This record gives sequence, structure tokens and C-alpha cells, in this order.
Amino acid sequence: MTKPLPSGSTIGIIGGGQLGRMLSVAAARLGYRCHVFDPGALPPAGDTAHAVTTAAYDDQTALRRFAESVDVITYEFENIPTEALDLLQDLRPIHPGREALRISQDRLTEKAFLRGLSLKVAPYADIPDATALDAALAEIGTPAILKTRRFGYDGKGQARIQSPADSAAAWADLHGTALILEGFIDFSHEVSVIAARGLDGSVACFDPGENVHRDGILRTTTVPARLSPAQRSDAILIAAQILNALDYVGVLGVELFVTPQGLVVNEIAPRVHNSGHWTQNGCAVDQFEQHIRAITGWPLGDGARHSDVRMENLIGDDLDRLPELAGARHAALHLYGKTEVKPGRKMGHVNHVLPG
Ligand code: AMP
Repeated sequence: MTKPLPSGSTIGIIGGGQLGRMLSVAAARLGYRCHVFDPGALPPAGDTAHAVTTAAYDDQTALRRFAESVDVITYEFENIPTEALDLLQDLRPIHPGREALRISQDRLTEKAFLRGLSLKVAPYADIPDATALDAALAEIGTPAILKTRRFGYDGKGQARIQSPADSAAAWADLHGTALILEGFIDFSHEVSVIAARGLDGSVACFDPGENVHRDGILRTTTVPARLSPAQRSDAILIAAQILNALDYVGVLGVELFVTPQGLVVNEIAPRVHNSGHWTQNGCAVDQFEQHIRAITGWPLGDGARHSDVRMENLIGDDLDRLPELAGARHAALHLYGKTEVKPGRKMGHVNHVLPG
């Protein structure tokens, strides 16, 4: 075993949202401090971290000072500007590494990478202009989804194309940035695997969870997912293959569509993932601790599940249900400390531990 980072060391976390907050709590439990870097005032992770830098991602002085104050750097979101990473990586190790970020920042690069591993992905085409869109629609067919290649999240930056007649409207909606067209996958349900790889190359996967989205936002994850034993092994093997191909260190989320022809990879996220929050109350070592273990050189937890869980996101006004949820049996509340409630904003989640 590699020697773990000593107790009292500091982990730098880029991004101070709820994922950074829960990472910093897990890090504290393992004897570490966290320094959070976020451009916004009062980030949720600021309450639980040892130090916070509030600065823009192009503030080179702040980035340098941040890196010099930490022992290892990780992140809670993948859209970190390349120039910031160039500067940081010369000063401290960054886990997961640059290759995972490069691939997951761009849907086109990501699809090509996955196809290169012989994994199934939706049919896709690069869309540099309106003519390319019509040509791709003729080839891929409808329904299809036009998506921005970069900076999409929670269903943002996407336009459904039900028939070729919708093509102009979808183009008008999204053009001006790099785009990709994806054929629509006729899936029965969506699952995800949260997997981890340690500094020594060992891999541990959590059980696949079944995800329900509404308006492009994750609503619930239920574990176990409806999968046959063969599909379950497939899901885990796919995640492990991706981790090894990237020489990855840390936790990775892999979203999959379940179809009669097999599992189709939708996307990968090089970080802890909303669909892995159930692990907080379903496993001895949750995804946040697993990530901290991986990047600091600890042995990984084995990922085994001690309880079935249904994770429910609390979005916007869902917070009005707090009195009822707080009194519910076997319901563990996780709130993010956000003071402003907005429609579509993730305010917290609740893990309903299901009777065994
Ligand atoms: P994404 O941001 O790519 O994860 O898309 C958000 C949600 O849109 C997914 O979880 C799916 O429910 C749906 N979706 C995205 N791409 C496709 C596709 N190619 N076929 C069918 N549904 C999709």
C-alpha cells in the first residue's frame, strides 16, 4: 500500500457547491482539512471547509496561493478552465487527472473515447453548422437531441428534435457554440454506477442505482436498480474499463441507458455524483469518503451495500416538505445550507432507507 497523506494535510477542492461540502465533511472525518476555491460568495462548502478562497478561475495570483496552501487538489465539477489547470498542475498533484477532465468536458470527445473502448453510445455527429445538422438528421433520423458539446448540465443546453421540421428551431435555440447531435435511445430505464480507483490502481464499485429524471434534473435514485445479474456485471465492468483506460484516481460516475440490446453509455462525470448520494446511508464507506480515500492513498472501501435506499433530491420548493420529512421514519436528511430557494435549485436530498 502507498503511504496515505498524513493526518492534518490539506485537500484543495475546486468548486464549493454541495458536492464540495460533502467531500469536505468526509475529509474532516479522515483527519484532513479542506481549502475550497470558488468564484461565488458564500459557497455551500465554505461552511464546512477549513479555508475558502473567493476568486475567479482566471485570477492567477489566487490560484497560485491556493495551490501552495494545499497538498493535493481535487474538484467537484468538470468545467474548470484549461489555463487554470495548467497553472495548478505544475504546483500540486490533481486527481482525477487532466485526461479525465479533457474527455468529459466535451461530449464529442467523450463519445469518441467511449466508442474507442468498444462501448455502446448513442449514434452521434459533430454539428459545426446548420447544413451539417440537416445532413446528420438524415443519417441518424429522428427523434434526436441537439446538445451543446460543452458546459451542459441538468438538461441545460439541449433541444429535442421530434421530426426534421424541428431542426431550424433547435438550431436557432442553440447555435453559436459547438454542438453535437445524438440519436434518441429508446431505453427502458436509466442507471448509473459510481466507481472508484485508488492510487495503486485498485477498483471498487458501488451497486448500480436506478435514476429518474424530470425536466432534465435527477429526482430519485433507487438501489438496487432493476437489472439482471448479467446487466449488473456489465455495468460494473464498463465502469472499471473506463477507470483503467483513464488511469483514473478518485470517484467517477457513469450514466447508462438500459435497452434490450444492452447498456448504452450516456455520459461520464469525473467526480462524485448526485446519483451516488444514496451511499451515505446505504454503505459503510460512502462515495465522498471513497473519493477522499482514493486521492489521499488510502485503501478503498469495498462498496458493499448494507441497506437498500431511495435517494430523493429536494429541489426548490420541495424544502416546504421539511417538517414532514424530518418526522419520517428511516429518512436521513442532507441539507446544503443554501439560503436562497430558486426553482430547479438543488437544496438538499433525503435518503429513505428501505426496509430490508
Ligand atoms: P444528459 O445531460 O446528456 O445526461 O441528458 C439528460 C437526460 O436527457 C438523460 O438523463 C436522459 O434522460 C435524456 N437523454 C439525454 N441524451 C439522450 C439520448 N441520446 N437518448 C435518450 N434520452 C437522452
